[in-house]
Amino acid sequence: MKSKKISQLLIGTNNKGKLREIRALLPKNIKIFSTSDFNLKSPKENGNTFKENSLIKARFFSKKSNQICISDDSGLEIKLLNNQPGIYSARWAGKKNNFNLAIKKVFKKLDKKMPSWRNRKIKAKFVCALTIYWPSGKHKTTIGKIDGRISNAKIGKKGFGYDPIFIPIGSKKTFGQTSPKKKYKIDHRYNAFKKIKKFL
Ligand code: IMP
Repeated sequence: MKSKKISQLLIGTNNKGKLREIRALLPKNIKIFSTSDFNLKSPKENGNTFKENSLIKARFFSKKSNQICISDDSGLEIKLLNNQPGIYSARWAGKKNNFNLAIKKVFKKLDKKMPSWRNRKIKAKFVCALTIYWPSGKHKTTIGKIDGRISNAKIGKKGFGYDPIFIPIGSKKTFGQTSPKKKYKIDHRYNAFKKIKKFL
């Protein structure tokens, strides 16, 4: 059965960076709500995968608002660190969402694992699971990725989270040095969005 076109949608995130990015991806004829329109706090993310956590968020925000909701769960996987921080990417920044701290933690773990890591290519990827959840309980999830490597220093003030230490494949610049317009057209969220947009 073909889905009915969506005319309004809640973006289920309390992360301002993600809100900006998902808003930029959505068609302009859809009326967009954010969690602040309904005064909603985020649920506990106790899933074991990006997919489970994106479903937990989309279901929670949809049930609380009675709106169709789109939520993502995303993070950085560093191969040498057995794919850490992964689903714990936000949690490495602590309660105050301090990404200086999270990035220091990445560098410290890499120093411990391979002291010469700054002279090597440290493979990493950003992963995003995107879920649309309808008040009826229907839901769809897609996964998007972007491959790259870890920069040997924190560079650039654009973006959010781990952007200043991630260099996408084929580039010499970090996402922290990349304009949002450019980043939004290549990253993990965009790749997940390309697969889910047929349901909008
Ligand atoms: P969560 O999906 O709310 O668990 O948070 C994911 C965390 O991963 C964010 O807080 C960011 O730290 C990080 N992250 C996800 N996507 C990006 C991105 O596009 N750039 C930089 N960091 C990201």
